[in-house]
Amino acid sequence: MASAQIVDVTARDGFQNIADWIPTDVKTAVLDQLVAAGVKRLEATSFVSPKAVPQLADASKIVNHMATRHPDVETHVLAPNLRGARDAVQAGAGRINYVISVSREHNRANINRTHEESLRDLASIIDALPKPEITVSLATVFGCPFAGRVPTADTVALAEKVASLGVRSVILADTIGVANPRQVRGVLRDFRAALPQLAVRLHLHDTHGMGLANMLAAMEEGFFAFETATGGLGGCPFAPGAAGNTATEDAVNMLHRMGIDTGINLAALLEVVKTLRENLAVPLPGRFSVARGFQEFCFYDV
Ligand code: ZN
Repeated sequence: MASAQIVDVTARDGFQNIADWIPTDVKTAVLDQLVAAGVKRLEATSFVSPKAVPQLADASKIVNHMATRHPDVETHVLAPNLRGARDAVQAGAGRINYVISVSREHNRANINRTHEESLRDLASIIDALPKPEITVSLATVFGCPFAGRVPTADTVALAEKVASLGVRSVILADTIGVANPRQVRGVLRDFRAALPQLAVRLHLHDTHGMGLANMLAAMEEGFFAFETATGGLGGCPFAPGAAGNTATEDAVNMLHRMGIDTGINLAALLEVVKTLRENLAVPLPGRFSVARGFQEFCFYDV
C-alpha cells in the first residue's frame, strides 16, 4: 500500500498565531491526542523570544513533555537563531527546524536578516550544535507578499547553499498559500532535478482553497511528505481571516480515500479537532470535521 508522511504542525504553526494564551496543559493534551491518533511526526513548539511570541513561552516544558511521554514520536521544534537552537537542545530537542525565506524581502520582514546573515547563523548552529538533526524550511517558495513571483532558480540557489552546509532535509513552503497545482509540479520537477539528494517536505497553506489540490500535484511528482495542521489552524498574518494550513484531517481523509496510508486514525483525529474547538476561540477552517454528520456517505472505513 502506498503511504504518505504527515508532520502535524498544529502546536507550532497553529498555536503561534493565536493571541489568547493557551494553557500548557491544553497544549500537551492536544499533543497527547495527536499521538494517540497515530501521529508519529509533529512540530511541537518554537524557541522564539517570548516577547515576540508569548504564546510559545512554554517551549521547554512542551519539549520535556514530548521527550518524557512520547520518546518514540519524531518531535521537531522551530528555532529562528543560535540562541533559540541552544535553548531547544538544552530542553532536550533532537530535531530543529530553521527558517529562511527565499524572497530576500520576506526574509528581511520576517526575521530581519539578509540571506547571508541567515546562512551564517545556520552555519554557526551547525558548528555549535552538531547533534540535533537540522531541517531548513524555505519560506515563500511559491510566492511572496512583498516580491510577488519567486523564481524557482532562487529556491534552488538558496537550497544549494543550505545543502553545502551539510543539511540533508528541506521544507518547501507555500507560506502565504498562493501556489497552484501546475506551479507545484513545475517547481518540484526543477527542484528534484537540481537537488536529487535532499529529502523534501511540502508545507502548503490553504489560503485560496488549493491546499489539497497542491498536495495531489506534489504526489503526482513523487513527493509524499507534508506538513499540515489539525483543524486547518495557522492563518496567514498577511491575510487576516484567511484559511491557514491545509487541515490534517482533510489531508488524511483524502489520502485514505485514495488508498494511501498515513498511520493516522481519522476518527481519533476528529477528537483532536473537538478539543481545539472546545478550547480555542478561533475559527477552524478545515472541512471534513464540519461535515462529520455526513460520514455515512463516506463509503469507506475511516
Ligand atoms: Zn504554515
